[in-house]
Amino acid sequence: MSLLNYKCPSCGASINYDPNLDKGACDYCGNVFTLEELEDYAKNNEKEEKDIKTSPEEDNQEEILSYSCDNCGAEVVSNATTSATFCYYCHSPVILTKQLQGDFKPDYIVPFAIDKKKAQETFLNWAKSKPYVPRSFTEASQLEKITGMYLPYWMGDAKTHVNVQGIGTKTSVYTRGDTEYTEYRDYPITAHGDFTIEKIPELAFTQIDRDLVKSVDDFSNAELRDFNMLYLSGFFSERYDIEKEKAEKSIIDQAKNYAQNFVKGQFSGYDNVKKDVDEINTELEKVSYVLLPTWVLTYNYLGKNYVYMLNGVNGMAYGELPVDQKKLALRSGIIFLIILALLLLGGKFIW
Ligand SMILES: [Zn+2]
Ligand SMILES: [Zn+2]
Repeated sequence: MSLLNYKCPSCGASINYDPNLDKGACDYCGNVFTLEELEDYAKNNEKEEKDIKTSPEEDNQEEILSYSCDNCGAEVVSNATTSATFCYYCHSPVILTKQLQGDFKPDYIVPFAIDKKKAQETFLNWAKSKPYVPRSFTEASQLEKITGMYLPYWMGDAKTHVNVQGIGTKTSVYTRGDTEYTEYRDYPITAHGDFTIEKIPELAFTQIDRDLVKSVDDFSNAELRDFNMLYLSGFFSERYDIEKEKAEKSIIDQAKNYAQNFVKGQFSGYDNVKKDVDEINTELEKVSYVLLPTWVLTYNYLGKNYVYMLNGVNGMAYGELPVDQKKLALRSGIIFLIILALLLLGGKFIW
């Protein structure tokens, strides 16, 4: 396994991708570099690509890889699907290039646009707006755990042919004298045409809760960039473990669903729609392998796990919140007291 660690051309420290500057930044000396500058520097200073020994852990069913950090030499352990991580000891970003080559080379990437600070602020604003949240949920040590992660997706463009024809009926009810009349008016309806639905995302990773991710993974307005490893520096990243062929059916289903809803929307003015011709054909045009950015915060409270997720581009968020039973009890106690006080007051008033 070969490792990549982008080095600062000025001081040699590690470079992280900075979403605000859209450049590589050195935390140590503060210098900032374009992607091209860093690539040139890396090329000119290319070391013998040392193949680092990897050893699948024997007593573990899951494949786990270990290697030594380029920076400090400590042993770093990672999941078999991880493509970018950090050294646990010196915290320098590490990119596992083998996980990004051959079949695993992404076609595109959407780089993070929201940095860690912004992600933490968004989370705080959300959590603080909710009642009964345990205090520890919004502590600094908790916020520190928010993790920027590129998740692997298959992203498809689907060409869709629609030909729907039929009769739409509008119903109106009116009363004349003592009699109620129902009037039906029929109209010929038609929806016909070809369109392409682009960038339909399908998560290509089994090790994360699909439903949770689905609630924030709208990247339809995001700009796809050609893949470059620099974007991973300073973030976690995973490679796919669901094959493209498996994802294709789901992408087609999503496209069909979209087309059906579109047709439904066209005929929404009718009380009844009878379709004589109902053709919706979907065909995949291309499927790309894409890495998409998501902020994830997991939190364990009284033995239960909670997850907060944030789309790394548009800030769309979804979260589960623990409820502090003590705070809740306190609050219901106060409500009870107030009601009791009111009752007593009422009692006094009567007497
Ligand atoms: Zn530097
Ligand atoms: Zn290290």
